[in-house]
Amino acid sequence: MPNWSACPVCEVVIDGDPWLTMDPLTWHRCGACDLVFKSKEPDGFLTDEHYEEDYFTGGSRQYDKRREHRIGKAQRQLDCGREFTTGDRLLDIGCSLGYALEAGRRLGLEPVGVDLSETARRACIEQGFTAVDGRLDALPFPDQSFDLVLMKHVLEHTPDPKGALHEIKRVCSDQACLIIAVPNLHYFKGRFARLKHRYYNPRHAGREHYVYFSRSALTKILEESGFTVRAHSKALFKKRRARDGLAAIIKEGLWFAVMSAWQALASGLSLRRELFVIAQLRNDP
Ligand SMILES: [Zn+2]
Repeated sequence: MPNWSACPVCEVVIDGDPWLTMDPLTWHRCGACDLVFKSKEPDGFLTDEHYEEDYFTGGSRQYDKRREHRIGKAQRQLDCGREFTTGDRLLDIGCSLGYALEAGRRLGLEPVGVDLSETARRACIEQGFTAVDGRLDALPFPDQSFDLVLMKHVLEHTPDPKGALHEIKRVCSDQACLIIAVPNLHYFKGRFARLKHRYYNPRHAGREHYVYFSRSALTKILEESGFTVRAHSKALFKKRRARDGLAAIIKEGLWFAVMSAWQALASGLSLRRELFVIAQLRNDP
């Protein structure tokens, strides 16, 4: 069970005023590791029922609306991860409606999904995928089952992210690559207008999210959990392999320069909504 009175990354006990209170939730910011975490919620505030049908179709979510965009993005992210591992066994944790599973299938991987939502699992199974019931603290797989583990917008949904990473480590093969995307704590709307932004609002993301990572907090928790960070967001825009011909090489080079400049600007101005990290198990001697 989470200790609501201490930072779930570095375990420093809460001291001082909350980062913000939005009744009935309280959020604290850890001065030691730059994590914002939920420090109080009423009993029974969030149940598994929250992640059933309405979660994917209700309100403004419309999860399936940009399906091809989501699949394409997952393909690029998996491609980045494959630079660090040769294995094909993919686990998508929080597989939702199967976008990353489809991306894995298109890349010739062997995708398996896990999700606590029955609605999500059913949607994946209908597309011919293996999708099983499981939670971050108890993944239903033997040790070292996977070479690529993808976890997009999932780690913020647990009050015990360290316990989750410990369990993920167990199912990773020695050469496995872990790909994580989470909301960026320092996204400007969450940072400068936090009372208005959805991050902390109990009727929006604040209901289901427990932790918001800065880049440094995400790096810290991964390293303390036995992983080494191999690449950050910019890996998404890695230099594409130049094709034959000078014109193609110049075009690729210009594209890379523009994307690099944009990445630096987006980071500097806190425009980036999402943090994306690739990590691998650290082979301690
Ligand atoms: Zn901390």
